[in-house]
Amino acid sequence: MRMVNETQYDGRALRMFLYAACKAEGMDTNRTIHVKYARANARTIGWGRYPSGLLSNDGRFIRLLLPRDGNFDPHYWGRVMAHELAHNRGVRHREMLGGCIIPTPEECPTPWAEGIVVPHNDPKAKPKADPVVTRADRAAANLARAEARLKRAKALHRKWAAKVAYYEKKYPERLAAARKG
Ligand SMILES: [Zn+2]
Repeated sequence: MRMVNETQYDGRALRMFLYAACKAEGMDTNRTIHVKYARANARTIGWGRYPSGLLSNDGRFIRLLLPRDGNFDPHYWGRVMAHELAHNRGVRHREMLGGCIIPTPEECPTPWAEGIVVPHNDPKAKPKADPVVTRADRAAANLARAEARLKRAKALHRKWAAKVAYYEKKYPERLAAARKG
């Protein structure tokens, strides 16, 4: 199977699901399956090529348009795969049950899909922060604040030390007399 996955759905899990879907339909896995996101409000969810005898990949191409929200229902997509694989066998919509597009769970039970999970990696989701890194960052911020306070205290110290030195130097007698008395 050649799978082209243009989504953030986990490729390994998706491949296992697609293998299981082909097997459940009694179809070989020698096909190209293109997986993309569905466009907003688009009604098309998949596409399967009919065999026509004109192309080497005839009846061996399927496209699935998965939801962007990461919500992968294995039973639903199992039924979509059954539908697309039927196209690969040459079945047209008018020949499907009541012209039905996607078979109902009653028409197409998918017990094989039970428990299959296809995780979706949201690229926007932030990875969970390491608590040690969080604490180290907080300590660095507190150190920066303490250094700013220290700098202000040193400036005040210089200012008042200079004033004291000025009075001691300029008026030594007056200060000495007053302090003695
Ligand atoms: Zn169809």
